[in-house]
Amino acid sequence: MSKIALFPGSFDPFTKGHADIVERGSFMFDQVIIGIGINSNKTRFFEIDLMIDLINKAFEHRPNVSVQLYSNLTASFAKEIGANYLLRGLRNTTDFEYENSIAQANKHINGNLETVFLITSPHLAYISSTIVRELYKHGQDISDFVPYKIQ
Ligand code: ADP
Repeated sequence: MSKIALFPGSFDPFTKGHADIVERGSFMFDQVIIGIGINSNKTRFFEIDLMIDLINKAFEHRPNVSVQLYSNLTASFAKEIGANYLLRGLRNTTDFEYENSIAQANKHINGNLETVFLITSPHLAYISSTIVRELYKHGQDISDFVPYKIQ
């Protein structure tokens, strides 16, 4: 059975921290699907179609990586696409607290779903979408933090 991992998140925007997890995951799984979760209650800052394009370009060299949008529960979407693994990144203990409870809930909803955590590469641990968004809003060049070119 092929091992398919879903890497879910808002990716507003997708950062080098995310890219590092996907890249490392692409050697562990047959397929990694980056799932951009759409939450109708939250407005995004970076347009979703632009983000899909930029992520696709950043992973042109990894044919087993793709991007999809979803708006249902992450555990249900994983089932829908035949993913038995959720891939997540861990930066610090705050991530751990949050991820721990989500992983338990997801396991409860979908018993076949294993969450696999990769510890962030240390040089990327401080990067968060929130910080990158703030920098971008204030006109800073964010090219050190994202794996693509953006004006
Ligand atoms: P969410 O909306 O679920 O918080 P994010 O887009 O912020 O989604 O993050 C998705 C996943 O990427 C989470 O597992 C998060 O811990 C991980 N992640 C975020 N930033 C980094 C980083 N700099 N290094 C490694 N993993 C990260």
